[in-house]
Amino acid sequence: MTPVRLYDSFRREKVPFEPIEPGKVGMYVCGPTPYTAAHIGHAYSAIAFDTIRRSLRFLGYQVRFVRNITDVEDKIIKRANEVHEDPMALAARYAADYNRDMARFGVLAPDVEPKVSTHIAEIIGLIERLIANGSAYQVEGDVNFEIAKFPAYGALSGMKLDELRAGERVEIDARKRSPDDFALWKAAKPGEPAWDSPWGKGRPGWHIECSAMTVTHLGETFDLHGGGKDLIFPHHENEIAQSRGAYGPATFARYWLHNGFLNFKGEKMARSLGNVVDCSEIADAVGGEALRLFCVSHHFRSPVDFDFQAIRDADQQVIGARFYSLEAADRKLEYFYITLKRIDEFLAAGGEPGPGTVMPEAEKLEPDARAALADDFNTPVVMASLYEAAALANRLLDEGKGIDKQLRRRTLARLGKDLRGVGDALGVFADDPKAYLAQRRARLVKRRAIDVAAVERLLAERVAARAAKDFTRSDAIRAELTRAGIAVHDTPHGTDWSVQDDAS
Ligand SMILES: [Zn+2]
Repeated sequence: MTPVRLYDSFRREKVPFEPIEPGKVGMYVCGPTPYTAAHIGHAYSAIAFDTIRRSLRFLGYQVRFVRNITDVEDKIIKRANEVHEDPMALAARYAADYNRDMARFGVLAPDVEPKVSTHIAEIIGLIERLIANGSAYQVEGDVNFEIAKFPAYGALSGMKLDELRAGERVEIDARKRSPDDFALWKAAKPGEPAWDSPWGKGRPGWHIECSAMTVTHLGETFDLHGGGKDLIFPHHENEIAQSRGAYGPATFARYWLHNGFLNFKGEKMARSLGNVVDCSEIADAVGGEALRLFCVSHHFRSPVDFDFQAIRDADQQVIGARFYSLEAADRKLEYFYITLKRIDEFLAAGGEPGPGTVMPEAEKLEPDARAALADDFNTPVVMASLYEAAALANRLLDEGKGIDKQLRRRTLARLGKDLRGVGDALGVFADDPKAYLAQRRARLVKRRAIDVAAVERLLAERVAARAAKDFTRSDAIRAELTRAGIAVHDTPHGTDWSVQDDAS
């Protein structure tokens, strides 16, 4: 395996990554609270950590990836009450939607996907341990963590509690020893899901689940912890306080990774845009892989501008959206899939090449990608290498003259294999090129409201005109189609067509 250096948010510097067990990585990422459809911000974070997981695998590590589902939480209960649905049923429904949406972006299913509702016993056990060693206290049916008992609090965010509270009106809660103490267990309120506990019926607070799940599935100490930057405070600080409070100062996550935010360009208030930034809407509009390519074209820690424009009707109601950033990503994706299709067809026409050397330029992609990913998962550098390799493949396909026939075949076979192999580390290029191109054409047909039957009628007419050697007519038909945004491709296997992308 390749040694990795990564930027650890806890140490605030790039450090060598040394897993507890060489070659093996235990990784935990805070997952969704499923109370509504997943939006693009959720996808951005899920893709970031899926790419890290895939990159580690590409670099030779065996990864155990745990991502939880917070299926018991205030937001779920509130939403369930609003729509008169059972909170557990609502959470299960949106959790299934979340996983379906993420699969469309190439996000692999976690090895373990623990839920709060199935880890109540582990959560209660951990809270009992914290009470027994004096880190937590019970007040009536609640249990709170006492921050004064954990002097290292704030080390991850770098903030001191008094600074955090500066200018903030502190709510006086007589049941807390300090306003900063946070809930581990909440006494049951009417209409809420509740479980039996040593402190009466109730449910866990938000933060304790991640401490209970990591110790259950990865042990007291594990390698990598990930999540969005917005989780650093208070969620991740509280996780550290709970876990180290229970198991000692040298335990819990050894390295922390946090992904940057998406900045909405053009339209600011995502919430007011209805469902247009929901994952399923985006995947329908531009394809899931376009979002994936867009994400991995940026470093996961950098903030990223996301350019889109809502489409409104006469009453200013949002009825759809144009995702310019993603449409551009889809055009890049098309370039790669056309390249892969050409390589596949070239190799299929002459059989697999025998063993032997390849052109030295074609040997660079794999080691260059390895070096870039080992340096803090630098996916934009990998993207540049992928472009170079695809350009080389197209050059060899277009002009093979003067190159040994077998060397050319072997080189193209290597480029095809490595484009897909390196692509897999980023979660791209896994589709069959023909299937991707057909789906892209169908999306463009929809976006540009193209009448497919009319296009095919004209193409049939053009075939007949060419057969009758009426080239004036066949050229006129091609010109008519071009004006309508249709590109005609005459190939040895017949005539094909594609939709010109309106890159405006
Ligand atoms: Zn968490």
